[in-house]
Order: sequence, then C-alpha cells, then structure tokens
Amino acid sequence: MSSNQTDVVFFDENGLRTDQRKPDEIRPMKIKIGVLSRANGSCYLEWGANKILAAVYGPREAHPRRIQLANRAVIRYRYNMQSFSVEDRARPGPSRRSSEISKVSREAFEPVLFPEDYPKAAIDIFVEVLQADAGTRTAAINAASLALVDAGIPMRGLVSACAAGKVDGKIVLDLNKPEDNYGDADLPIAMTEDGKITLIQMDGHLTPSEFEEAMDLVQKGCRQVLEIQKAALLEKFASVMDDDDEEV
Ligand code: ADP
Repeated sequence: MSSNQTDVVFFDENGLRTDQRKPDEIRPMKIKIGVLSRANGSCYLEWGANKILAAVYGPREAHPRRIQLANRAVIRYRYNMQSFSVEDRARPGPSRRSSEISKVSREAFEPVLFPEDYPKAAIDIFVEVLQADAGTRTAAINAASLALVDAGIPMRGLVSACAAGKVDGKIVLDLNKPEDNYGDADLPIAMTEDGKITLIQMDGHLTPSEFEEAMDLVQKGCRQVLEIQKAALLEKFASVMDDDDEEV
C-alpha cells in the first residue's frame, strides 16, 4: 500500500487505484444523445459518478442585439454546477470558477465550429453539472461536443476531453475525487479529432519529464473518449441511417 502525507491510500498492493482502476484506465462512461425535446441538440453523460446534461441552441438570432457580430456568430458556453451536485451544497449562480471553465470550454470549441457562416447569430451551449465527482469540465466538454452534433451544427470534428494527473509520485489518467483533492497535479486537456489541443490547464506541479508523460497519457485518454463518443453517435443515428436505407 502506498499513500502520501494526507494518509490517503492511492494504490493497493496490486498497483490499482481507489476505484480499482489501472493507472492508465479511464472511468466508465455512459452517453445518451437527444434527451431534451426543446433544445436543438442535447446529451446526458455519466463519467464515473459525474452526471452532466448538455443542451445546444442555434444557430439562432443572437439576443440581445447588441451582442450580435456583423460577420460571424457569437458562441456562448455556460458551465453551471447545481447546488445539489456536490457533497456540501455548492453556492448557486456564477462564480469565478464557473466563469473560467465557461471561457476555456468555449475556446475549446471555437476551432471546430464555423461561426463565420452565421453572421448575427448565436450558438448557445449550456452544461449543467447534476452530480460532480472530479473532472466535470472535461465531462461537460464531451457532452457538449455530442449535443452540438445532435443539433446538426457543422463541425470539423468532435472535441474530446480528459485529464491526467500525478498521485503519490505516479502519473495517472482521469483523476477521481480523492486523487483530484489530495493528488499532486491535475492536467485537463481537450483535443480535436486530428490531435489539435484546444484546452490545456494545469493545477499543481509536474517536472518536465512528468509533464511529457502526462501529456502522452492524456492524449491517449482523449482518443479513448473519442471512440466512446463515436459509438454513442452510431447508436443514436444508426437507426436513422437504417430508415434512410429502406426508403432508397
Ligand atoms: P473539475 O470538476 O473539472 O475537476 P475542479 O478541479 O475545480 O474541476 O473541481 C474538482 C471537483 O471538486 C469537482 O468535480 C467537484 O466534485 C468538487 N467541487 C468543485 N467546486 C466545488 C464547490 N463549489 N463545492 C463543492 N465541491 C466542489
């Protein structure tokens, strides 16, 4: 057994983590696309104990008018954590944390969207964290990516997000709550299908070689997430494709 100064035991005698995962394993992910009938696109996503709902509206005329841009759409992303989503009630309403997450997440999508095709319009992405258990910003990006596809908004490809971190001196993938709270570093990233990194943040400390190891691992994590996202899209749209085949 190994632990750090906080007495949290991070690895058992077989090198498995507190939730029995291997260091390079992501938490199980479940996805349902198209869960809200009033949104143009939506997605419900569970990743470990995180539960996220994403809704997308647009492109639609931007309101209020003063935010309209003559030559492109505005993209808005709102990350919100429900007060009941954490153990101690989270303070409702915007916070510095939610504003920061909203900003960097919006920027994570800008390179895959075509805002110049929709002057004066808005593309609105809302994510609600219903249950939080570390990694909500990455889970939210994965859900938002699928909600954008469900809304039929043209994209260069999906965006997939994951985090790596350092726990008890080891680099691990997709931190759980104790690892996030008591670990040494957290490195969430978002990546396009062709491998461009559109979000990178880091909490804590990594040496240059640990950073390289974490970057390598987290990109593998994003590729695993991408496969899960694609499978969810196939599950949702295969039946539509089957119906189309019958009509031909
Ligand atoms: P992320 O959820 O993207 O990992 P943080 O590293 O900021 O973002 O948060 C880690 C975890 O800490 C969250 O997933 C959540 O479980 C918890 N947390 C975040 N903000 C609050 C809050 N205001 N109150 C209680 N717990 C919180």
